[in-house]
Amino acid sequence: MIHQIYPQVSHDFQYELNKDMQIAAAHFIPHEAAGKCAQMHGHTYFVNITVAGNELDDSGFLVNFQQLKKIVHGKFDHTLMNDHKDMFNNVNANDFPTTEVVARKIAEIVQAHLDTLPNRPTCVQVFVRESPTSYVVYRPKAGKQ
Ligand SMILES: [Zn+2]
Repeated sequence: MIHQIYPQVSHDFQYELNKDMQIAAAHFIPHEAAGKCAQMHGHTYFVNITVAGNELDDSGFLVNFQQLKKIVHGKFDHTLMNDHKDMFNNVNANDFPTTEVVARKIAEIVQAHLDTLPNRPTCVQVFVRESPTSYVVYRPKAGKQ
C-alpha cells in the first residue's frame, strides 16, 4: 500500500516481515448500538500483518508470504464474516466481527500457523483498515493472544 504508513510496533526481534492484503468481505454487527452497521454491508479491508523473529527457516524465510495470504485472504475474501462460525458468533460481543475482533482473529490464525514452523516466529501486530477513515491495530501480548 503506497498510500498507507503503518503504526510501528516495538520489539527486540532481528527480523520483521510485513504482509499486506486486501479482503473484500461483508459483515454485520448484531447489536443495537451498532446502528447502521447492524445491517449487512461490505468493506474492502486493508490488512497488514507483522511477523517478527530471530530465526529463519531452511528456505531463508521468517514465514512464507504466500502462506500468510492463503490462510487469511483465502479464508475471508468474498465471504460474509458472520458465516465463519469458528471465528465469530452473534452472542458474545468479544466475538462479533467488529474491526477490533477481526484484527484479533487474524492474529490468532496467523500465530496458530507460526506455531507450526520450526523457527517459531511471532505475530506482533495486525493492522486492519475497514474504511478510508477507520482502522484498528491489534498487538498480541507476549505469550497470550
Ligand atoms: Zn462494517
